[in-house]
Amino acid sequence: MASRVVIVGAGPAGITVAEALREHDQEVEIAMLSSEPFPPYAPPAMADHFLTGRDETLFWKGRDVCQRLKVDYLPNTTAESLLPQSHALSLSNGSTLTYDQLVIATGSGLYAPVAGHQLPGLYNFKSLSAAKQLVDGVRAGKVRSAIIVGAGFIGVELALLLQDSGVSVTMVEIEDRLMWRMLELETAEIVLESVRGRGVEGRLNTRATAFLGSGEVTGVELESGEVLRADAYIAATGVKPNIEWLQGSGVQTNWGILVDDFLRTNIPDVYAAGDVAETRDRMTGERFVHAIFPNAVDQARVVANGLLGYEERYEGAESMNSLKHLGVEVMAVGAQRGEEELRWRKNGQLRKLFLNDGRIVGFRLVGNVRGAGVYRSLMLRGVDVRAFRERLLDPRPGASWFGSASGDTLVLER
Ligand SMILES: Cc1cc2nc3c(=O)[nH]c(=O)nc-3n(C[C@H](O)[C@H](O)[C@H](O)COP(=O)(O)OP(=O)(O)OC[C@H]3O[C@@H](n4cnc5c(N)ncnc54)[C@H](O)[C@@H]3O)c2cc1C
Repeated sequence: MASRVVIVGAGPAGITVAEALREHDQEVEIAMLSSEPFPPYAPPAMADHFLTGRDETLFWKGRDVCQRLKVDYLPNTTAESLLPQSHALSLSNGSTLTYDQLVIATGSGLYAPVAGHQLPGLYNFKSLSAAKQLVDGVRAGKVRSAIIVGAGFIGVELALLLQDSGVSVTMVEIEDRLMWRMLELETAEIVLESVRGRGVEGRLNTRATAFLGSGEVTGVELESGEVLRADAYIAATGVKPNIEWLQGSGVQTNWGILVDDFLRTNIPDVYAAGDVAETRDRMTGERFVHAIFPNAVDQARVVANGLLGYEERYEGAESMNSLKHLGVEVMAVGAQRGEEELRWRKNGQLRKLFLNDGRIVGFRLVGNVRGAGVYRSLMLRGVDVRAFRERLLDPRPGASWFGSASGDTLVLER
């Protein structure tokens, strides 16, 4: 086992590596850096934290986790470059930190391919530091209206948070639907209706061409020439792995850091995990960055095992998400289309399964997520569901695969 492991980044991936390492090795020296001033936190819990004031889910391992795990934690410290020849990092405080083994868990940051994205005063919700600035503005009464550019997962979650905090919100989205990466049109329309029902204005098929302003940002220009104004402007246009600091290090990157099936980079003694790592997709085998929490945690455990000397092959990343704050349950897993579609819709509930060659490749559930675990298991195991597909969809107790078939509500589409 290495004598000193350095972890760059204290998000879900970083802290999970530290925890899994310490569980099996009391001696190894662990140092962990974060650009941010906070204890390790879970970004998915930020909205709930700001709405309810609850801390437990945000600081999910406890505020004292680093003391408990005997991790030498360096908050407010950014790794600025990696020097593999000398097994060292140069840090923002001017010092150098050496490692025997290094874990890059720097996550992802805002990706804003819109002119003016560097203007002061433009908010985002990608980190706790950034989110706090926005929420402080709302709490101080400075933000009564907001324009969010981008209606992906984070944009929608933020829109609901702001609306619930008394802010009037307009979302601008270039695509024809909300959360286009996750949702096919029918599910997206239900989500849009629900979001609009909560008072959020959603402008689809609308391209924002620039954030305007000579000092601070003061408007959003649309392709039509129209300029939208509000108290706050927020970019929620996407995320990108934090890899810029690795330039010149020799670490191979594409969109994220390229890793093998053991999550090793091309540089000896350097691993990567979480949103920063470009791994194999569990279903398709393609290389991809699926920037979600469960993938970050699973990858971190694989990395910890590698550091401990147990070679564990990573099973691959999944595409999986659920929307919690909508008022209606929505779950999106895997592909959003297939050669065949099984569809059931009734009483505000929708379930869709997408099949290729009789096997589930993805599903969308709205209003009732019962059965999600079974669908996922069938999908991951590649089970041919043709023999019982008529009974797969109806979620009512006693009316589905759990009991008798209910053909009247089942629609099969090719
Ligand atoms: C608002 C929001 C809601 C989300 N909701 C969900 C959800 O419901 N479900 C889900 O599955 N996923 C969700 N996600 C995604 C999930 O949070 C990420 O997939 C997960 O946080 C990735 O963990 P990570 O440790 O790889 O990276 P991050 O959480 O991004 O952590 C990386 C850390 O590294 C630090 N860092 C970066 N560069 C450096 C450097 N050079 N030196 C030192 N430190 C550095 C960063 O400051 C950051 O603290 C959400 C994300 C956001 C922002």
